Amino acid sequence: MVVGGIPISYRQPDEAFKYLGASATPWRGLIEGVELNTIQDLIDRVKTLPIKPMQKLTLLRTYLLPRFTYGLVTCPPPKETLRNIDSTIRSGVKRILHLHESTNSAFMYTPRKQGGLGLLETYPMVYLAALRNETKAANSDDIIVRSTILNERSSKTYGTYAAALRLPWPATSEQIEERKRQIKQGYKREWSQLIAQGQGVEDFAQEPLCNAWLSRSDLLRSSRLIDAIKLRTNTYPTRTIMRRAHDEVSPICRACGSADETLGHVLGQCVTTKAKRIKRHNEIVDLLKDRLAATNRVLVEPTVEYNGERLKPDLVITNEERVIVLDVTVRYENKSFLIEAAKEKVDKYSDIANKLKRSFNASQARVVPIVVGFRGALPAATVAELKQLNINKADWLTISLIALRSSIEIANAFMDS
Ligand SMILES: [Zn+2]
Repeated sequence: MVVGGIPISYRQPDEAFKYLGASATPWRGLIEGVELNTIQDLIDRVKTLPIKPMQKLTLLRTYLLPRFTYGLVTCPPPKETLRNIDSTIRSGVKRILHLHESTNSAFMYTPRKQGGLGLLETYPMVYLAALRNETKAANSDDIIVRSTILNERSSKTYGTYAAALRLPWPATSEQIEERKRQIKQGYKREWSQLIAQGQGVEDFAQEPLCNAWLSRSDLLRSSRLIDAIKLRTNTYPTRTIMRRAHDEVSPICRACGSADETLGHVLGQCVTTKAKRIKRHNEIVDLLKDRLAATNRVLVEPTVEYNGERLKPDLVITNEERVIVLDVTVRYENKSFLIEAAKEKVDKYSDIANKLKRSFNASQARVVPIVVGFRGALPAATVAELKQLNINKADWLTISLIALRSSIEIANAFMDS
């Protein structure tokens, strides 16, 4: 076929075509049952390309896998086949990113904005897309399209897909979209319920900026990206994690010997990582100090006495109307640890905030806890405070990355020690 003088290549539906050296044939693949090999070959080829891991992932997620998905939606195979395709894709992505085989699936499907890898799970998404197309066609204004669709055989086939997804059939587009939304939201919930790998998941989902490194390849070096994913999924090889697979591994910290070697211990409590932890904290304080000093008077670590106790908050910020006692703390994301950290700071500093209010003759005073997660989480309360302080979004991202990058450095240095 020639369009406007340009030859357009045309292929039969079952004819193979080459894309990046891989043979892509969703149709023929389905008929002959070799689609798994085709997907496997494609992933293997992507793995060897001389590009960064994040670029490989983007290539797969955005350009290569959707081609298969399209073929699958046109003619959905049985649920088991889709499950096998998903399993092939998951292990391929784990190999590309050098992740441990035990890395949970829910993390891989959780949307990137919520802190996951944002892969498409072919089952159930292929069935949902097929049902959506069928519903659209069934509501077409064109009587021929409608009568082609509305026959007994197709009603039975699509009824099976719908039943598998606990949808009525026929279903409305709204019902299908709602089910899709529920399934997408379900991944994060499933991930968050895992005892070890699910720690902090709810915190990561609070502010999309703390997940920007999962979409952008310019924020972390490739080797760091893989560490970041291991920290995020708590699959970083601390002794407590190794012990889950090998009973003979002692859980006791290799460096200090005084507690179990968990991620929380390495990044937050071990005496051997203390200097780097102070540096991580100070970098965040310095950034805030620079920004706030532009429009306020800023005191750095002033000593304030109250009831015989000497306290040194990170910053005291004053202008004509108010006094702010600001303290930064970086904590491990798990359960309600971040919320408790904020409360702890308010309790600790509210008396001296009132004292400073009187001495500066200000009309208001308050304690502003800036709580950041070891793995970059920015809790909603911290974001609200940053907004109030007129700290811009680019700085929120920097703060999150300071925490994450330092934690990677702390963990790697700990392992090398
Ligand atoms: Zn230790």
